[in-house]
Amino acid sequence: MKGSERMPVRAASGIFLAILFAAAVILALDSASGQSSSPYPVATDVRLAGDLAETRLVMDLSRKIDLHAFTLADPYRVVVDIPEVVFRLPQHAGEAGRGLIKAFRFGLMMEGGSRIVLDLAKPVRVQKAFVMDAEAGDPARLVLDLVATDRAGFLRQITLDDKQLTQRMPVRPQPQDNSGDSRPLVVLDPGHGGIDTGTRAPTGQLEKDIVLDFAKRVRQRLESAGKYRVLMTRADDTFIPLAERVDIARKANASLFVSIHADSLPHGEGDAQGATVYTLSNKATDAEAAQVAEMENRSDVVAGVDLKGEPDDVAGILIDLAQRETKTFSTQFAHKLVADLKGVARLHKEPLKSAGFRVLRAPDVPSVLVELGYVSNRDDLKSLMSDSWRDRTADSIAMAIDTYLSAHVASAPRSAN
Ligand SMILES: [Zn+2]
Repeated sequence: MKGSERMPVRAASGIFLAILFAAAVILALDSASGQSSSPYPVATDVRLAGDLAETRLVMDLSRKIDLHAFTLADPYRVVVDIPEVVFRLPQHAGEAGRGLIKAFRFGLMMEGGSRIVLDLAKPVRVQKAFVMDAEAGDPARLVLDLVATDRAGFLRQITLDDKQLTQRMPVRPQPQDNSGDSRPLVVLDPGHGGIDTGTRAPTGQLEKDIVLDFAKRVRQRLESAGKYRVLMTRADDTFIPLAERVDIARKANASLFVSIHADSLPHGEGDAQGATVYTLSNKATDAEAAQVAEMENRSDVVAGVDLKGEPDDVAGILIDLAQRETKTFSTQFAHKLVADLKGVARLHKEPLKSAGFRVLRAPDVPSVLVELGYVSNRDDLKSLMSDSWRDRTADSIAMAIDTYLSAHVASAPRSAN
């Protein structure tokens, strides 16, 4: 009796030990694939404390890093530049603020460099910004102490920052084409990237990922047809400021610039659906177009880019002849694109619109912006996430580009560089 009673106990404890061992292996594997083996420091947690007079942000890190903090006005922001970090923060980190910090974002700016951008409730002074070594079981910690100040004090600090900043401005290599190849060049511009995620579907998918994958499919089609060269403003998950995207197209003497985005409507603002093709104008077609342009133009603010020196509107550049010709070409291509998309994708009830998009400002490169659909609409999101929809729609865009360029580049060659 005794023996037979003991046996199951021993078996059970054996199983228990096996489970413990398996759990330990899983934990070890997890930490091996995570912090210990990552070539980059890992951010694991973030906390806010304080009030409207003083606010502290603390971010836990797997090891000590360098940082550089500076401020930007209009809107008031604090930007913290750090080496490339893997962010493994709680899911909604940064969405809700506290004290002087309204909200914050974090992410990649470019290879080797990450950034934290804080939106402020009012002007602040950065009292302290440093990283503490790990010690006594505590992780390394990034500490940012902000104290309230007035606008004058805030602007004075920016002048000081500017002097330092020009010296340590990271140089981002611009994609360019030096092949000497004379085939017409198409610049594809997947919106957002890195710290700027773009819009987010209720189910979590990010605009920046959807449009990057989509742009690559269009590129693949254009390149395999062999008639055109293709340059992407970004081919990975990094951030490119709006003005730089325009610059890339102009410097490369592009024949066409196509910016690719996906829309969303805030909860409770109806349920619009379908693709829309936008061209540039200083007066938006309607209130919705104006709102879309405003959202897309926020990209630089989101990523902590200084807007000082950027014109407030696009009115000033719509006057010269080159611009007028470019505008005509942009509109012709937009019409062609809408006509071709009609057969394969659901279109917005008014699929052709114009508004003041910063990214469409090149005075000498015909430019359109395509909103592929609304991630806030269930049917659109299903399409946007579907491989076959992406392939069909990319086909159709590549065909529209070919039809347009075949007609225009032959009859009106661009001035050679
Ligand atoms: Zn966008």
